[in-house]
Amino acid sequence: MSTTQETADTALDMATSAVTPVPDPESPATSKGLSSVSILAARTLSGRFPDGIDWTNAIWLAFMHAGAVAAFWHFSWPAFWMFIAFYYATGCFGVTLGYHRLMTHGSFQTIAPVRGLLTLCAMLSGQGSPLFWIATHRKHHAHSDGPEDPHTPNDGFWWSHILWLQPRNSAEHTTQAFKRWAPDLYKSKLHRFLHATYGPFLFLSGGAFYAIGEFRWNQGLSVFLWAMCLRIVTVYHVTWFVNSATHIWGYRNYKTTDRSRNLWWVGLLAFGEGWHNNHHAYQRMARHGHRLYEFDLTYNIIRVMKLFGLARHVVDELPAAAKDALRGDTTAAQAAKAA
Ligand SMILES: [Zn+2]
Ligand SMILES: [Zn+2]
Repeated sequence: MSTTQETADTALDMATSAVTPVPDPESPATSKGLSSVSILAARTLSGRFPDGIDWTNAIWLAFMHAGAVAAFWHFSWPAFWMFIAFYYATGCFGVTLGYHRLMTHGSFQTIAPVRGLLTLCAMLSGQGSPLFWIATHRKHHAHSDGPEDPHTPNDGFWWSHILWLQPRNSAEHTTQAFKRWAPDLYKSKLHRFLHATYGPFLFLSGGAFYAIGEFRWNQGLSVFLWAMCLRIVTVYHVTWFVNSATHIWGYRNYKTTDRSRNLWWVGLLAFGEGWHNNHHAYQRMARHGHRLYEFDLTYNIIRVMKLFGLARHVVDELPAAAKDALRGDTTAAQAAKAA
């Protein structure tokens, strides 16, 4: 086996391993909240733009945010309900269920048409092609809160929330990252096509929202601003809070080596993704809420899919060490881990 292949396999193993070791005593870095995070850590930012700014991305984000603000001056009920429908379709079913739990971590398996539909929903979120999203997220898990983490709040809250998306990446750098972190997707011609055509796809989706609003309700602009701009921006910030807030605030069930935490309001807004310390400790688990009160909407959807035969091989049994840790029996947890 070549070194490249070994690296790729390791990346995939790390992203899909059933249980991630959680060995570390709580370090000073993981025990502090915002006090340990500067709002904008210029010290480390200066070296983060070696190839300049990705102006396409920056202008896109600015345009979407401007549209989101303008939406409040162009309200209509059809646009509001389209906003709600696509908020859940893209944020919950697309990004959380599709990109994250299914495609990044293999928390369950499903049939090809459902996988295709979830991929389409996720692409409409404006968060990038499957290759981009999944490679980035696997790298985050492999280097959580270390120097190679794409979006750690160690480099400032705003870096982890939005600024990490601004540096330009060369095509060569991007290809190397895909080969290393998402080799399973990169070998697919379809996924390489989806990445290459992602920009036009997103523009066309905006046109489609306008056209549907105009022809169905005579509310083209209102539907475009609500169902496209405001919806995309809302889902952006909900997802970005998982990268920023849940690595800063909240409580920890498990002593992971990163700063990940469980934060109730991100848990509710992000369809269960806010139980982020649980997820970092047991990355492949379909179930992110490990305590009774940690409500996880996405996991409940997976359970319903399982009932109808649409989700198979669901990874949802908490290991004994996790149950011990939740009970506070760390001695037993350590013994189980050592065994
Ligand atoms: Zn994380
Ligand atoms: Zn993850």
